Amino acid sequence: MVHFIGAGPGDPELLTIKGKRLIDSADVIIYAGSLVNKKVLDDRKESAVVYNSAYMTLPEVIQVMKETEAKGLSVARVHTGDPSIYGAIREQMDALDRLGISYEVIPGVSSFLAAAASMKKEYTLPGVSQTVILSRLEGRTPVPEKEKILSLAKHHATMIIFLSVGKIEVLVQLLSESYERDTPAAVVYKASWPEEVIVYGTLETIADKVKAAGITKTALVVVGDFLGNAYELSKLYDQNFETEYRKTGGSMKGH
Ligand code: SAH
Repeated sequence: MVHFIGAGPGDPELLTIKGKRLIDSADVIIYAGSLVNKKVLDDRKESAVVYNSAYMTLPEVIQVMKETEAKGLSVARVHTGDPSIYGAIREQMDALDRLGISYEVIPGVSSFLAAAASMKKEYTLPGVSQTVILSRLEGRTPVPEKEKILSLAKHHATMIIFLSVGKIEVLVQLLSESYERDTPAAVVYKASWPEEVIVYGTLETIADKVKAAGITKTALVVVGDFLGNAYELSKLYDQNFETEYRKTGGSMKGH
């Protein structure tokens, strides 16, 4: 059995209990060494064999899984954040399907969620935005035409841009075609790691500030009025609004 595990954004305590149990009992561990905090492997079995996938190709990763499976041993394939977001997990699962090897996926705390926690912000503020767009700039991996930043920015939603801080000037220029120049923006570097840095600014100022801070990778760019202070109170806790659990006025009875 192969266990794909989301290792979380960095802080080893942000690993799920299930993910940790499977890592700690794995016979073979293949981890994405460029981003996964190696501390999540600290309690592994002494006999566990560890591979860093940063040095491996897809066929090599699959080969290790195949050999381990043939011996009846377990593999923990450890991805950063949650494997469903820019995790290159699908191609591995499809290869395992072709080989008839069973697997499961354990979700993890994605870096964009850790970033909100670090900023102490809510991405979906009432009256501001109820939509979160996760995207990236084109790199060596292309982005489909209909999903270009330029088109996505038109919605004025909360936007979180992965894998793109190295080209922050280009990114800000594209975003500014739709968002006002004074729209708040932030860059979160290594959310939840001890070396975390958060840079706040606006679309006008953020690129210079990020350059001055020397941030070139492992960061998210977030943009939107959710970073500001104007919003409406939620209906969920509104005293004039009944829910399935609470009549108007509230009573604080019940559990
Ligand atoms: N699956 C991962 C994302 C992998 S793509 C997840 O769910 O978070 C790698 C990109 O994720 C990086 O270029 C960076 O943009 C972002 N990233 C990963 N970990 C991060 C962290 N701790 N803080 C900020 N950004 C991070």
